[in-house]
Amino acid sequence: MRNSRPGPFSLNVRDIVRRPGEMREHSIDVPLAEKWGEGLVAVPSGSAVELDVRLESVHEGILATGDVHADYEGICGRCLTEIAAPVDVEFQELFAYPGEEANDFEVQDDHVDLETVVRDAIVLSLPFQPVCRPECPGLDPETGELLDEQSGATSGEALDPRWAALEKFAAEQNDESGESGRTPQNS
Ligand SMILES: [Zn+2]
Repeated sequence: MRNSRPGPFSLNVRDIVRRPGEMREHSIDVPLAEKWGEGLVAVPSGSAVELDVRLESVHEGILATGDVHADYEGICGRCLTEIAAPVDVEFQELFAYPGEEANDFEVQDDHVDLETVVRDAIVLSLPFQPVCRPECPGLDPETGELLDEQSGATSGEALDPRWAALEKFAAEQNDESGESGRTPQNS
């Protein structure tokens, strides 16, 4: 009996081991036991990672080539709004047969365990400074309020940055003419 159960990303390759040219394809969905990522955004535990992988028997071992899809959650680094987005990433890694040379990844007990490869591919592609949208203006450093709201935009509305600039300009014009209101200009 094995001491450790094969992980959820471990695939049996017994039927293609040492048979160069043979290949197998697998599609698996794996719910995460723990979250992946330590930054502002992460793939939460319990969410499914979708993996499509081709395992190819080559002279040195098993070549794994695949696509991974996951969904991450977290907060915008500028305005702290909750965000969620998909991440898709490709990977390729050789799992060598155990031998005299030390390898990062090896075929063990006729299995390849893709977990580290898949996790690294996902975690490295998570945005280091995630934003809710590219033009997110963030929070006012003095008041801590959303700058969007200050400039008069309706919250939740996706505002074209060019209109935002116009609106700000209009508001400034009003301020200069001594009016405190923010009625739209009819010019
Ligand atoms: Zn934001």
